[in-house]
Amino acid sequence: MSKVTYLDNNATTRVAEEVLEAMLPFFCDYYGNASSVYEFGAQVHDRLEHARKQVAELLGAEHPHEIIFTSCGSESDNTAIHSAVRALPNRKRIVTSAVEHLAVLDTCRAYKKEGYEVIEVGVDEQGQLDMDAYKAAVNEQTCLVSLMYANNESGVVFPIEEASALAKGKGAIFHTDAVQAAGKIPLNMGACPHIDMLSISGHKFHAPKGIGALYVRNGTPFDKFMLGGHQERNRRAGTEASALIVGLGAAAELAASRLEDEETRVKGMRDRLQKELVAAIPDIRVNAANAPRTPNTLSVAFKYADEEIILRELSAQGICASSGSACNSEVIEPSHVMKAMGVPPEYLNGVLRISLSHYTDSSDIDAIVSALPGIVRLAQSQSLFNEEL
Ligand code: PLP
Repeated sequence: MSKVTYLDNNATTRVAEEVLEAMLPFFCDYYGNASSVYEFGAQVHDRLEHARKQVAELLGAEHPHEIIFTSCGSESDNTAIHSAVRALPNRKRIVTSAVEHLAVLDTCRAYKKEGYEVIEVGVDEQGQLDMDAYKAAVNEQTCLVSLMYANNESGVVFPIEEASALAKGKGAIFHTDAVQAAGKIPLNMGACPHIDMLSISGHKFHAPKGIGALYVRNGTPFDKFMLGGHQERNRRAGTEASALIVGLGAAAELAASRLEDEETRVKGMRDRLQKELVAAIPDIRVNAANAPRTPNTLSVAFKYADEEIILRELSAQGICASSGSACNSEVIEPSHVMKAMGVPPEYLNGVLRISLSHYTDSSDIDAIVSALPGIVRLAQSQSLFNEEL
């Protein structure tokens, strides 16, 4: 395989060697069913409980059994939302934000058909939650508030501690989608007592695809998503995916040990990238430049440029980045996040998300800094949106 400059870590990450190594024995050697009574299964069960502890530690959760293993972030989000809505059946309002991942947004919107009022609170031009609108939206009729910890496109970190305290004050259940926060910024459920549920996804922090977790604080009413099946203390059906769970645990431990590297080295590379792109490219816009952001994420936009051309040309040079959310990449529509932030129309079709990881090094940054100015000029000259140039 030729060298790839991989700068799309918010879409997915490579599996860490340490994670793969931890998982391998669970395919052909320790393949027993963790729910079986014999020793061959019980030893797998013990290893899964260790993984639960590793994940609990990453989240600062008090009890390992507050962690439920799921198949992905989307399943965790769906489970949390359905559970909260069913737990408080007399309350008919759901509050979320306009910039959530579709795993949250579409799940909440589906409740409109059942007579629920779904309020999508907006953000300001920096991508930050409109706190006044949020305060006005949450009331005693609210069963659920679901707000993301960090945005997958802009990297903006929401004030979750304050928002969760407000929701709890009104008696609502508070869920946060922390898929883009876990492993990038510290999370501490002990210090955020008003978060009831929190979603994470392994493939965003160097575990494999196909494994996620939902944190459910002790005492939070919980209604399981799949009705048949009794695993995970009767909270999630399906034979435990032992190798994947072991991988998630190993990735969680690794991520916890690398948080400082994220905050210093990775952030340093992101900041250098931002500075050098701003210096090299006219008509560039840094989205959410003044908001608190995850250390690995940079969202930029180019005036009258076509992001599809930019991505194609970057790809031709072995560089992977993304336009807005990768999960929406089949839909050629300006990103709902950038629209909610009020990005001007002349920039909306030229959005580029560059997301780093522990495995990014300065040669990756050099590669995109040297490629992008020419590519943007080309994209502007070929763009159908270019009315000015
Ligand atoms: N939530 C956010 C913020 C995401 O960025 C993603 C994936 O990009 C998801 C949820 C869905 O996670 P998964 O791919 O594990 O289903």
